[in-house]
Amino acid sequence: MALERTFSILKPDCTRRNLTGAVNAMIEAAGLRIVAQKRVHMTQAQAETFYAVHSERPFFGELVEFMTSAPVVVQVLEGDNAVLAYRTVMGATNPANADEGTIRKVHAVSMGENTVHGSDSVENAAIEIAQFFSGNEIVG
Ligand code: ADP
Ligand code: MG
Repeated sequence: MALERTFSILKPDCTRRNLTGAVNAMIEAAGLRIVAQKRVHMTQAQAETFYAVHSERPFFGELVEFMTSAPVVVQVLEGDNAVLAYRTVMGATNPANADEGTIRKVHAVSMGENTVHGSDSVENAAIEIAQFFSGNEIVG
């Protein structure tokens, strides 16, 4: 097993409904350790940079608007195979397709307002973590 770190965001639909603790409990129950966490209100520039890979997609404007509509909680999660472990407990992007018991199945509102972000690779996790955390803010 490889000890990894992944980047997580509890999205505006999560903070707005006061579900930070409920989602964190699901993260911890999946064996992931929250080794850094802070609440931020993303600027438009931060959201556009973070989701730059999707800039040509039709939902990009809606996504940036949503991600800047309320505070989010950004996190670094650590554990064995953390990238895949978190994607598994998150569930599919569209909550209608998410497995029972996953965060998105239990809590997501829609395809856009789907409660959590998780990195899709170790490489992207490192890039995303560096966008929001300095090294001394991550305490494993
Ligand atoms: P994931 O978050 O599961 O990695 P993607 O990277 O494909 O999914 O998309 C990033 C985010 O963009 C999604 O989590 C969701 O909030 C939003 N999104 C993706 N596809 C759509 C869509 N068809 N309509 C609206 N929002 C979308
Ligand atoms: Mg993605």
